Amino acid sequence: MNLNEKIITEIESLVENSSLNKNSKYGFSYFESPLVGFASINNPLFSDYKNIIGDFHYHPKEFFEPPPADGTVIVWVLSVNEEVRKSNAKEDRFPSLYWALQREYGERFNMLIRKHIQEYMKESGYNAVSPMLSYKWKRLDNTKVGLASTWSERHAAFAAGLGTFSLSDGFITRRGIAHRCGSVVTDAVLDVHESEYGDHRENCLFFNNIAECGECISRCPAGAITENGHDKSLCDRYTYNTIRRLRGDYYNVETTGCGLCQTAVPCEYSLPFKE
Ligand code: SF4
Ligand code: SF4
Repeated sequence: MNLNEKIITEIESLVENSSLNKNSKYGFSYFESPLVGFASINNPLFSDYKNIIGDFHYHPKEFFEPPPADGTVIVWVLSVNEEVRKSNAKEDRFPSLYWALQREYGERFNMLIRKHIQEYMKESGYNAVSPMLSYKWKRLDNTKVGLASTWSERHAAFAAGLGTFSLSDGFITRRGIAHRCGSVVTDAVLDVHESEYGDHRENCLFFNNIAECGECISRCPAGAITENGHDKSLCDRYTYNTIRRLRGDYYNVETTGCGLCQTAVPCEYSLPFKE
Protein backbone atom coordinates (compact mmCIF):
# COMPACT_ATOMS: atom_id res chain seq x y z
CA MET A 1 0.00 0.00 0.00
CA ASN A 2 1.52 3.38 -0.93
CA LEU A 3 1.14 6.51 1.20
CA ASN A 4 -1.83 7.80 -0.83
CA GLU A 5 -3.68 4.54 -0.17
CA LYS A 6 -2.75 4.58 3.51
CA ILE A 7 -4.14 8.13 3.92
CA ILE A 8 -7.37 7.16 2.15
CA THR A 9 -7.67 4.11 4.42
CA GLU A 10 -7.12 6.27 7.53
CA ILE A 11 -9.94 8.64 6.54
CA GLU A 12 -12.30 5.84 5.46
CA SER A 13 -11.65 3.98 8.68
CA LEU A 14 -12.49 7.03 10.81
CA VAL A 15 -15.73 7.61 8.90
CA GLU A 16 -16.71 3.97 9.25
CA ASN A 17 -15.65 3.31 12.84
CA SER A 18 -15.47 6.52 14.88
CA SER A 19 -18.26 6.96 17.43
CA LEU A 20 -17.98 10.70 16.70
CA ASN A 21 -19.49 10.10 13.26
CA LYS A 22 -22.66 8.83 14.92
CA ASN A 23 -25.45 10.54 16.77
CA SER A 24 -26.01 8.32 19.76
CA LYS A 25 -29.39 9.84 20.69
CA TYR A 26 -31.05 9.32 17.31
CA GLY A 27 -28.83 6.53 15.99
CA PHE A 28 -27.78 7.95 12.63
CA SER A 29 -24.35 8.65 11.09
CA TYR A 30 -23.45 12.13 9.93
CA PHE A 31 -21.40 11.08 6.89
CA GLU A 32 -21.09 8.28 4.36
CA SER A 33 -17.81 7.02 2.90
CA PRO A 34 -15.55 9.86 1.72
CA LEU A 35 -14.02 10.96 -1.56
CA VAL A 36 -10.31 11.74 -1.17
CA GLY A 37 -8.16 13.75 -3.62
CA PHE A 38 -4.57 14.96 -3.87
CA ALA A 39 -3.26 18.16 -5.53
CA SER A 40 0.34 19.27 -5.91
CA ILE A 41 1.17 22.41 -3.94
CA ASN A 42 2.81 23.53 -7.21
CA ASN A 43 -0.53 23.32 -9.06
CA PRO A 44 -0.79 26.77 -10.73
CA LEU A 45 -4.40 27.07 -9.52
CA PHE A 46 -3.12 27.86 -6.02
CA SER A 47 -1.30 30.93 -7.40
CA ASP A 48 -4.36 31.83 -9.51
CA TYR A 49 -6.51 31.86 -6.34
CA LYS A 50 -4.49 34.88 -5.16
CA ASN A 51 -6.09 36.80 -8.05
CA ILE A 52 -9.46 35.04 -8.16
CA ILE A 53 -10.20 35.10 -4.41
CA GLY A 54 -7.71 37.70 -3.15
CA ASP A 55 -4.15 38.09 -2.00
CA PHE A 56 -5.25 37.20 1.55
CA HIS A 57 -5.93 33.61 0.44
CA TYR A 58 -2.91 31.53 1.41
CA HIS A 59 -0.85 29.57 -1.04
CA PRO A 60 -0.33 26.07 0.49
CA LYS A 61 3.42 26.75 0.79
CA GLU A 62 2.67 29.73 3.04
CA PHE A 63 1.54 27.43 5.84
CA PHE A 64 5.20 26.38 6.32
CA GLU A 65 8.26 28.25 7.48
CA PRO A 66 10.39 27.99 5.37
CA PRO A 67 8.13 27.10 2.40
CA PRO A 68 8.84 23.66 0.92
CA ALA A 69 9.83 23.26 -2.75
CA ASP A 70 7.22 20.55 -3.28
CA GLY A 71 4.38 18.86 -1.47
CA THR A 72 0.71 17.92 -1.60
CA VAL A 73 -2.70 19.16 -0.53
CA ILE A 74 -4.78 16.26 0.76
CA VAL A 75 -8.53 16.95 0.47
CA TRP A 76 -11.56 14.89 1.47
CA VAL A 77 -15.28 15.31 0.87
CA LEU A 78 -17.67 13.78 3.41
CA SER A 79 -21.07 13.12 1.83
CA VAL A 80 -23.95 13.85 4.17
CA ASN A 81 -25.72 10.63 5.13
CA GLU A 82 -28.93 9.79 3.29
CA GLU A 83 -31.11 9.91 6.41
CA VAL A 84 -29.92 13.45 7.12
CA ARG A 85 -30.37 14.57 3.51
CA LYS A 86 -33.87 13.11 3.28
CA SER A 87 -34.93 14.87 6.48
CA ASN A 88 -33.68 18.21 5.15
CA ALA A 89 -35.30 17.68 1.76
CA LYS A 90 -38.73 17.78 3.47
CA GLU A 91 -38.07 21.24 4.91
CA ASP A 92 -38.60 24.56 3.16
CA ARG A 93 -37.83 27.24 5.75
CA PHE A 94 -35.39 25.93 8.34
CA PRO A 95 -32.95 23.02 8.32
CA SER A 96 -34.15 19.76 9.88
CA LEU A 97 -33.01 18.69 13.34
CA TYR A 98 -30.80 15.99 11.81
CA TRP A 99 -29.19 18.50 9.44
CA ALA A 100 -28.43 20.89 12.31
CA LEU A 101 -26.93 18.07 14.38
CA GLN A 102 -24.81 17.05 11.38
CA ARG A 103 -23.63 20.67 10.96
CA GLU A 104 -22.67 21.01 14.63
CA TYR A 105 -21.38 17.56 15.59
CA GLY A 106 -20.46 16.31 12.12
CA GLU A 107 -18.17 19.30 11.71
CA ARG A 108 -16.57 18.53 15.09
CA PHE A 109 -15.89 15.04 13.74
CA ASN A 110 -14.44 16.61 10.59
CA MET A 111 -12.10 18.65 12.83
CA LEU A 112 -10.97 15.38 14.39
CA ILE A 113 -10.15 14.01 10.90
CA ARG A 114 -8.14 17.16 10.14
CA LYS A 115 -6.15 16.73 13.35
CA HIS A 116 -5.73 12.99 12.84
CA ILE A 117 -4.39 13.29 9.27
CA GLN A 118 -2.11 16.18 10.26
CA GLU A 119 -0.60 14.03 13.04
CA TYR A 120 -0.54 10.90 10.85
CA MET A 121 1.62 12.74 8.28
CA LYS A 122 3.94 14.02 11.01
CA GLU A 123 4.29 10.49 12.44
CA SER A 124 5.08 9.34 8.89
CA GLY A 125 8.07 11.71 8.88
CA TYR A 126 6.66 14.77 7.08
CA ASN A 127 5.70 18.29 7.95
CA ALA A 128 1.93 18.82 7.84
CA VAL A 129 -0.64 21.49 8.66
CA SER A 130 -4.40 21.43 8.47
CA PRO A 131 -5.16 25.03 7.44
CA MET A 132 -8.43 25.06 9.44
CA LEU A 133 -6.41 24.26 12.58
CA SER A 134 -3.77 26.90 11.82
CA TYR A 135 -3.67 30.31 13.50
CA LYS A 136 -3.50 31.63 9.92
CA TRP A 137 -7.08 30.56 9.16
CA LYS A 138 -9.52 33.46 9.43
CA ARG A 139 -12.88 34.51 8.08
CA LEU A 140 -12.86 37.94 6.45
CA ASP A 141 -15.68 40.38 5.64
CA ASN A 142 -15.77 42.89 2.83
CA THR A 143 -13.24 41.33 0.48
CA LYS A 144 -13.67 41.78 -3.28
CA VAL A 145 -15.53 38.43 -3.24
CA GLY A 146 -17.55 39.36 -0.13
CA LEU A 147 -17.33 37.03 2.86
CA ALA A 148 -14.26 34.84 2.44
CA SER A 149 -11.57 33.02 4.37
CA THR A 150 -7.80 32.70 4.16
CA TRP A 151 -8.08 29.08 2.95
CA SER A 152 -10.92 27.56 0.95
CA GLU A 153 -11.21 23.79 1.19
CA ARG A 154 -13.64 23.76 -1.76
CA HIS A 155 -11.02 25.49 -3.93
CA ALA A 156 -8.48 22.90 -2.77
CA ALA A 157 -10.99 20.18 -3.72
CA PHE A 158 -11.35 21.76 -7.18
CA ALA A 159 -7.56 21.72 -7.62
CA ALA A 160 -7.62 18.02 -6.66
CA GLY A 161 -10.21 17.32 -9.37
CA LEU A 162 -12.99 16.31 -6.98
CA GLY A 163 -15.72 18.47 -8.53
CA THR A 164 -16.78 21.96 -9.60
CA PHE A 165 -18.63 24.95 -8.20
CA SER A 166 -22.34 25.65 -8.71
CA LEU A 167 -24.84 28.46 -9.14
CA SER A 168 -25.47 28.27 -5.39
CA ASP A 169 -21.72 28.56 -4.58
CA GLY A 170 -21.74 24.91 -3.53
CA PHE A 171 -19.31 22.28 -4.79
CA ILE A 172 -20.74 19.44 -6.91
CA THR A 173 -18.78 16.17 -6.79
CA ARG A 174 -19.76 12.82 -8.30
CA ARG A 175 -21.51 12.26 -4.96
CA GLY A 176 -23.36 15.53 -5.20
CA ILE A 177 -23.38 18.84 -3.39
CA ALA A 178 -24.44 17.89 0.17
CA HIS A 179 -21.17 17.37 2.00
CA ARG A 180 -18.42 18.90 4.11
CA CYS A 181 -14.78 19.22 3.01
CA GLY A 182 -11.51 18.92 4.92
CA SER A 183 -7.84 19.36 4.04
CA VAL A 184 -4.24 18.96 5.16
CA VAL A 185 -1.17 20.47 3.49
CA THR A 186 2.06 18.48 3.64
CA ASP A 187 5.60 18.55 2.24
CA ALA A 188 5.22 14.85 1.34
CA VAL A 189 5.24 14.44 -2.44
CA LEU A 190 2.31 12.11 -3.14
CA ASP A 191 0.65 10.92 -6.35
CA VAL A 192 -1.68 13.70 -7.47
CA HIS A 193 -4.80 13.90 -9.60
CA GLU A 194 -5.21 17.36 -11.08
CA SER A 195 -8.51 18.87 -12.11
CA GLU A 196 -9.55 17.93 -15.64
CA TYR A 197 -12.53 20.23 -15.73
CA GLY A 198 -12.71 22.68 -18.62
CA ASP A 199 -14.93 25.06 -16.68
CA HIS A 200 -15.04 25.68 -12.94
CA ARG A 201 -18.86 25.26 -12.92
CA GLU A 202 -19.09 22.31 -15.31
CA ASN A 203 -21.02 20.01 -12.95
CA CYS A 204 -23.87 22.51 -12.44
CA LEU A 205 -26.78 22.13 -14.88
CA PHE A 206 -27.30 25.88 -14.93
CA PHE A 207 -23.96 26.36 -16.68
CA ASN A 208 -23.38 23.27 -18.79
CA ASN A 209 -26.18 23.62 -21.37
CA ILE A 210 -27.42 20.04 -20.84
CA ALA A 211 -30.71 21.04 -19.25
CA GLU A 212 -32.35 23.97 -17.55
CA CYS A 213 -32.27 23.90 -13.80
CA GLY A 214 -32.01 26.59 -11.15
CA GLU A 215 -33.96 24.47 -8.63
CA CYS A 216 -31.71 25.74 -5.85
CA ILE A 217 -33.13 29.24 -6.51
CA SER A 218 -36.61 28.28 -5.31
CA ARG A 219 -35.22 26.18 -2.44
CA CYS A 220 -33.64 29.24 -0.78
CA PRO A 221 -36.01 30.88 1.73
CA ALA A 222 -33.73 33.92 1.99
CA GLY A 223 -33.74 34.77 -1.72
CA ALA A 224 -29.97 34.46 -1.66
CA ILE A 225 -29.74 32.56 -4.97
CA THR A 226 -30.73 34.11 -8.28
CA GLU A 227 -29.78 33.55 -11.90
CA ASN A 228 -26.90 35.91 -11.18
CA GLY A 229 -25.49 33.63 -8.49
CA HIS A 230 -25.31 33.41 -4.71
CA ASP A 231 -25.45 36.38 -2.34
CA LYS A 232 -23.14 35.29 0.47
CA SER A 233 -24.16 38.12 2.81
CA LEU A 234 -27.88 37.29 2.56
CA CYS A 235 -27.14 33.60 3.03
CA ASP A 236 -24.88 34.27 5.98
CA ARG A 237 -27.43 36.54 7.69
CA TYR A 238 -30.22 34.03 7.22
CA THR A 239 -28.12 31.06 8.34
CA TYR A 240 -26.21 32.58 11.24
CA ASN A 241 -28.79 35.11 12.49
CA THR A 242 -32.36 34.14 11.54
CA ILE A 243 -32.08 30.36 11.77
CA ARG A 244 -29.72 30.54 14.74
CA ARG A 245 -32.25 32.74 16.60
CA LEU A 246 -35.34 30.73 15.68
CA ARG A 247 -33.96 27.18 15.77
CA GLY A 248 -30.56 27.19 17.57
CA ASP A 249 -31.87 26.81 21.12
CA TYR A 250 -34.72 24.57 20.00
CA TYR A 251 -32.23 22.18 18.40
CA ASN A 252 -29.71 22.84 21.22
CA VAL A 253 -26.82 23.65 18.84
CA GLU A 254 -24.59 26.68 18.29
CA THR A 255 -24.52 26.31 14.50
CA THR A 256 -27.51 24.96 12.61
CA GLY A 257 -26.27 25.34 9.03
CA CYS A 258 -29.03 25.48 6.42
CA GLY A 259 -28.38 23.27 3.38
CA LEU A 260 -31.88 23.69 1.92
CA CYS A 261 -30.26 24.49 -1.46
CA GLN A 262 -28.24 21.26 -1.17
CA THR A 263 -31.23 18.96 -0.68
CA ALA A 264 -34.27 18.22 -2.87
CA VAL A 265 -32.24 19.40 -5.88
CA PRO A 266 -31.00 17.33 -8.86
CA CYS A 267 -27.37 17.61 -7.70
CA GLU A 268 -28.05 16.51 -4.10
CA TYR A 269 -26.24 13.16 -4.14
CA SER A 270 -24.87 12.65 -7.65
CA LEU A 271 -23.90 14.55 -10.74
CA PRO A 272 -27.17 16.01 -12.09
CA PHE A 273 -26.50 14.36 -15.45
CA LYS A 274 -25.17 11.00 -16.60
CA GLU A 275 -21.36 10.88 -16.89
S1 SF4 B 1 -29.92 22.77 -8.26
FE1 SF4 B 1 -29.38 22.87 -10.44
S2 SF4 B 1 -28.70 25.02 -10.77
FE2 SF4 B 1 -28.67 24.63 -8.56
S3 SF4 B 1 -26.58 23.94 -8.11
FE3 SF4 B 1 -27.77 22.08 -8.48
S4 SF4 B 1 -27.53 21.64 -10.69
FE4 SF4 B 1 -26.86 23.78 -10.35
S1 SF4 C 1 -27.62 27.75 2.60
FE1 SF4 C 1 -27.84 29.93 2.07
S2 SF4 C 1 -28.22 29.92 -0.13
FE2 SF4 C 1 -28.60 27.83 0.57
S3 SF4 C 1 -30.81 27.78 1.01
FE3 SF4 C 1 -29.78 28.31 2.94
S4 SF4 C 1 -29.79 30.56 2.98
FE4 SF4 C 1 -30.20 29.94 0.87
